[in-house]
Amino acid sequence: MLGSLHAAWRRRPSAMVVGAIVALSLAGAVAAAVLTWRGSEGPVGDITALRSGGGERWPAVPGFEVPTRLPDLDPALAPPREARLRPIARRLEVSRGDTLMEMLVRAGIPRAEAHEAIRRLTRRFDPRDLKPGQALLVELLPAADGAVRLASLALDVEFARRLRLQRTGEGFALEDVALPVVRRPRLATGVVEDSLYLAGKGRGVPDQVLMELVRLLSWDVDFQRDLQPGDRFELLWEELERADGSDRRVGDVLYGRLEVAGRTVAFYRFERQDGRVGYYGPDGRSLRKALLRTPVDGARISSRFGKRRHPILGYTRMHKGVDFAAPRGTPIYAAGDGVVTYAGRKGSFGVYARIRHNGRYVTAYAHMDRLAKGIRRGLRVRQGQVIGYVGSTGRSTGPHLHFEVLENGRQVNPLKIRQPASERLAGRELERFRRTVAAIDALRTRLAREPVIASRE
Ligand SMILES: [Zn+2]
Repeated sequence: MLGSLHAAWRRRPSAMVVGAIVALSLAGAVAAAVLTWRGSEGPVGDITALRSGGGERWPAVPGFEVPTRLPDLDPALAPPREARLRPIARRLEVSRGDTLMEMLVRAGIPRAEAHEAIRRLTRRFDPRDLKPGQALLVELLPAADGAVRLASLALDVEFARRLRLQRTGEGFALEDVALPVVRRPRLATGVVEDSLYLAGKGRGVPDQVLMELVRLLSWDVDFQRDLQPGDRFELLWEELERADGSDRRVGDVLYGRLEVAGRTVAFYRFERQDGRVGYYGPDGRSLRKALLRTPVDGARISSRFGKRRHPILGYTRMHKGVDFAAPRGTPIYAAGDGVVTYAGRKGSFGVYARIRHNGRYVTAYAHMDRLAKGIRRGLRVRQGQVIGYVGSTGRSTGPHLHFEVLENGRQVNPLKIRQPASERLAGRELERFRRTVAAIDALRTRLAREPVIASRE
């Protein structure tokens, strides 16, 4: 795609430039038309300003009038009946570097009152967990002296958990509210044409679900080599929606199936009696193998194991690992449970880490941008734990992960090693698993008969 674009650019430079300018000015005209139309609506402008939140200081005007129905007004936050002045609902969105104190003071709340509210809130919430994009829903009461007082504050600390501060005279009461969530199963089936990613997108499969599929099958399927046009997939996952409709998210993947290279691989999500959750094949074998084959998501193999011409030094040498090209900052996962035996700079490898998994296998990760927080020699890590981020440190021509697997001290091809499944369900767990399989299969059958629900994204 990029290649053909590049070729077209070289052939017809003037036409491309003109085309681009026309496209840009057209886009500009459309945007301007939309803005004008929105502007002419009147109240839309006010609501937009309220939505953006956080930035401007609240005007200290008693009896300040606001539209009676705001789209961001949380229905759970009904104004107290005894209030003589109507509280004003505002949505304050967290920007990078914001603190709760700054946000409340910016909204016009006196410092002492903001301090008291935060003191109450932090009994159940660590302010360091505040994330950019998160929203504080506040209600402000214009006071007789022209200042504003905090009537209530709501903060969603988890998808289904909200902390709510409510004014009680001079102080605040803190409520921890479990938000009701509706779970909806979603089923998608499709045929790969260009790529699994495009085929999945075309059937309304969220990115996270596709990534989970790739991650779960990374040991059984070489997505670069095995996957061909005509291969089929089926995915069943849950969509979670708050009962009040205020937020939605992708839940767990329950089932996946891929028909690839003439064989079928499938897996079911299963929660064991002790609460551990895993993915298992129809026969009850765990998908979780001793080592991940691909310790980065969405990466492209840019160089395989074996002899190659060195891109910088020019001579032919043995490439003792696999290179995964990925954007700088992409998380790198520990390929398996183990102990970090090296973490830091190491000559031409740049920022480098090594993990010993067992008596047989060691994995190594080179050219990282940086190590993940807390990764140091001697640390025990779990499979899938982020140990660092893709970079281009050391002798490297661009952001990539150089990944090595050492078997009994010698580098082996990470894509070729075959290991048995690490676990197989037995006895009562196997019986429970079979009931889970039957329930999921029944759900698949039922959903397959229903008409396809168009994605509302
Ligand atoms: Zn390499």
